[in-house]
Amino acid sequence: MHCNLYNAALANRITQYKKFGKSVNYFEQQNSLPEFKTVWPEYVELGSQALQATLKRVDFAFERFFKGLGGYPRFKASRRYSGFTYPALSGWKCVTDAGLNGHLTISNLGKIQMRGQARTWGDPTTLTVFGREGKWFASITVKCNPTRATGEGAVGIDLGCKEAVTLSTGEQISKPDFIKAGDLKVNVASKQLRRKRAPNRNKKVKASRRWKKARAIVSKYQRKVTRQRDNWLHQTTSNIVSSNSLVAGEQLNVKGMTARAKKGKRKKQKAGLNRSILSVGFAKISKMFEYKLAEAGGFYVESPTRQLKPSQRCAKCWELTPKTLKDRVHVCSNSKCGHTEDRDINAAQVSLIWAQGAGTVLSDAESSSSTSCGSMKQLGAKKRQKSQLAEGLGDLETSSLYRVG
Ligand SMILES: [Zn+2]
Repeated sequence: MHCNLYNAALANRITQYKKFGKSVNYFEQQNSLPEFKTVWPEYVELGSQALQATLKRVDFAFERFFKGLGGYPRFKASRRYSGFTYPALSGWKCVTDAGLNGHLTISNLGKIQMRGQARTWGDPTTLTVFGREGKWFASITVKCNPTRATGEGAVGIDLGCKEAVTLSTGEQISKPDFIKAGDLKVNVASKQLRRKRAPNRNKKVKASRRWKKARAIVSKYQRKVTRQRDNWLHQTTSNIVSSNSLVAGEQLNVKGMTARAKKGKRKKQKAGLNRSILSVGFAKISKMFEYKLAEAGGFYVESPTRQLKPSQRCAKCWELTPKTLKDRVHVCSNSKCGHTEDRDINAAQVSLIWAQGAGTVLSDAESSSSTSCGSMKQLGAKKRQKSQLAEGLGDLETSSLYRVG
């Protein structure tokens, strides 16, 4: 019923605009709800706030479209419609023992058992119910003060394709094997799906029952891989946060990194790289560090990759050494330094040094004038370079430093 309301509200907006050149806004639709319910009385028991939330979804879809963030809103089949929301406390009640299991009471559906556990529980505010693969889920937002234990440490991280996460301490966490095993299962299942009769709207071919069954199997495996990966990401990030209150990473442009190569020999190569970037979930890792450290009262600092170039800069002397993706070891091009380190470890260390403050870099440069290394001329050049860097990065720092809690 919520899906039908969504489609009706969408159709209303489209026909009003096409036939009368009039754009309908959210409030107009909201105000017509009482009249709508006199024509369709079965909608009364769903609760007016839940119905308003569904209209809000249509509004949100159009807002996204007008901002250029999404395509034109589409009609949704009931199997693609993702549930309904109670935006306030009316119409439902959640009874649980500090977030562990319990039951939901929804006004027109009755009492429903819940299973699961919230990490932190508080006062419930909104409820979204959605169905997936024949199972139903309740997503409850609560007002709470999440906390997390953390240590004194500070660590730099580098996300890569060869090893998923590299720490500045030299520890490397590789990509779990189950991602590959899961992908294999998905591939086998998709091949079975391709052999079945798929729907084709233009030729008016309906999907066969076997095709539908095969599709369910594919999506089952896909979701399993996703769950496993999320679990692994949570465990890895929580582990790092539990002993470090400062984590330094680099700003990632996943969209650019995973953009398809346009043509030529490198297309396949880039596709493989994209797959390994996406299969680890880089964007998710950064998000997790951000909120987990906020909960712990720590910092997550992202260094500006373009200006800093952590994979090229030397962690010892701050000099740049150009590298290609193939070069796995950092060998400093500065003949005075000659620092040799694993490429990813070096990058993680550079991020950490940057995060610990551009101020440290400056004082470092000044103190180095009293130490004996290199001629005065070289030192001056180095000093200038460092202070330029510190200045240049100074204004960026405010925009990329996260502190919450
Ligand atoms: Zn060096």
